[in-house]
Amino acid sequence: MHIKTLLNRLEKHKGFVYQSVELIGETDLVLEVTVRPRKGSRPVCSVCGREGPGYDILPVRRFEFIPFWGVVVLFLYAMRRVDCPHCGVKVEVVPWANGKHRQTKTYAWFLSSWAKRLSWSEVADAFQTSWHHVFTAVRMAVNWGRSHMNLDGVTAIGVDEMAWGRWHRYVTVVYQINEGQKRLLWVGRERTVRTLLGFFRWFGKERSSRLAFICSDMWKPYLKVIAKKACGAVDILDRFHIMAHMNKAIDKVRAQEVRELKAKGLSPVLKGSRWLLLKKVENMTFRQIGKLAVILRYNLRTVRAYLMKEDFQFFWGYRSPYFAGKFLDQWCDRTMRSRIEPMKDVAKMLRRHRKLILNWFRAKKMFSSGVVEGLNGKAKLITKRAYGFRTYKCLEIALYHGLGQLPEPEFTHKFF
Ligand SMILES: [Zn+2]
Repeated sequence: MHIKTLLNRLEKHKGFVYQSVELIGETDLVLEVTVRPRKGSRPVCSVCGREGPGYDILPVRRFEFIPFWGVVVLFLYAMRRVDCPHCGVKVEVVPWANGKHRQTKTYAWFLSSWAKRLSWSEVADAFQTSWHHVFTAVRMAVNWGRSHMNLDGVTAIGVDEMAWGRWHRYVTVVYQINEGQKRLLWVGRERTVRTLLGFFRWFGKERSSRLAFICSDMWKPYLKVIAKKACGAVDILDRFHIMAHMNKAIDKVRAQEVRELKAKGLSPVLKGSRWLLLKKVENMTFRQIGKLAVILRYNLRTVRAYLMKEDFQFFWGYRSPYFAGKFLDQWCDRTMRSRIEPMKDVAKMLRRHRKLILNWFRAKKMFSSGVVEGLNGKAKLITKRAYGFRTYKCLEIALYHGLGQLPEPEFTHKFF
């Protein structure tokens, strides 16, 4: 069987034919596939997309196709120029590649599919190409997917922030958290009012007015923008974010107490307890429970803070917003008397946002912490993997690629 036959079956382009296939080289083999226009076909203008008379022919260009048994595969084609009656003399469009890109579209989709399973440098290694080529392929896939994504039926979103890079910069991420479709919708630089306004501008007025639920953190710029831009939606301060604040407070108390105990020369009971105190009891191993029991014997501020957090877990079990509200008030009163400053800060914050927190019960707990938490975890993993990227643009593309559930064009044959 000829390679031409194979290509005609898998990758046929209207108006073009595969003329010849040649194997070149001794050890580093290259398969050169010469493509030419079908007889009588006219070139298509790359500006207006209309056919026109040919003007002249440019020198041969090489396009990279999917490598085949470790052999580099190149399409060789001499681009024609169109004498377009509307646009003047322009280069023609070819169906297998975009603009000035050297990669064929098929190869780019192939690389971007692999980049969902492996890191970008692993993909580059596996297919003997450069990191930059993989990046270009993923960027193409993301751009295509973003311009073809369907935003119908987005009525519940989660807004979150994430630290990234070495200098504690932030990105704002917006997820769709509807039952049945959970994905990343949008990424923006920083976590300011302007950032989130950017999301609403992109999302559009009409769609924003149809938003019913928004889960967010107690971050002031977000709350401000949400109140203004999506006044029809119930803003929910969800469980995941609230417990994250509480864990941060415990961590602060613990760090301070460890320093104090050390200064007094007391035995470091709290050493290595950091993750233990932030864990849910039901997720602990026997050994960890043993260690927790030891720590709890001491009347430490850390222990009291921990017990306050555990006590607060009851809050999430309530059904009625009324009784949940009562519990919240009592918990805050008790905590305010505790003289543990970081926990008092949490109580103050909860009091300030009482209404939005109780919205969670009004929304019938539809949005469990798991939704935002799960997406957030995946996003963090991608961010960590993207640590070497350095630039914001790379991070953005990696997040959309990994979490956007972006559509892909229909192919007659999947090479992946
Ligand atoms: Zn034209």
